[in-house]
Amino acid sequence: MITCAWCGKVFNELREDCARCGGALPPPDGADAGAPPPPVPRVLPTDFRRRVLVTRNETVLAAGLLLIFATASAWGFLPFSPRVRQSGFGIQEGYFLALFGVFFLFGAALLWFGLRRGMRAVRIVEFGEAAGGTIIAVTRDAFKSLGGRPHTVISYIFAADGEVHNGEAHTCDDAVAREAGQPVHVLYQASNPRANVIYPPVSRFTAF
Ligand SMILES: [Zn+2]
Repeated sequence: MITCAWCGKVFNELREDCARCGGALPPPDGADAGAPPPPVPRVLPTDFRRRVLVTRNETVLAAGLLLIFATASAWGFLPFSPRVRQSGFGIQEGYFLALFGVFFLFGAALLWFGLRRGMRAVRIVEFGEAAGGTIIAVTRDAFKSLGGRPHTVISYIFAADGEVHNGEAHTCDDAVAREAGQPVHVLYQASNPRANVIYPPVSRFTAF
């Protein structure tokens, strides 16, 4: 089973490109890193931006829930809400408003953080420098599984500006996990190589 990290389409067999969005899929297990990333600016499948920024961005989704919760809860304690107009705005209402205000600010900060991280990931895939890397470890965590498929962490190293950097890719697709010692393509932010992803991306694209 292999999931397209660009659009989320699931295939039963390994293939080179996604039949739905045309995005490059991870190569089969072996000594080959697959086709190298195309030159910049790379054309991204249409769904990818939306997925990385919103629908598959756990931080942004959590922030959205928190903002909705804080706004909906605060509503009943605002001076012009029907409840407060009837019983008056007292110290208790003030406390509740302050509390939900803190929740709101926390949600807004989380939203900013999640969007910034997502935008950075999109920018790296679109404009990032390419390097050849090596997988140094593949670890499977059966306790964090998705539908019986263990959460797999692919750890890799690559060289940029004369220094060795490392990175991690997460997936629940066993077929793309590969093995230590195998080559892998890496895309990284030129000004900060610690921000990097493997190419083609694997599912659970949360990266750094
Ligand atoms: Zn796809």
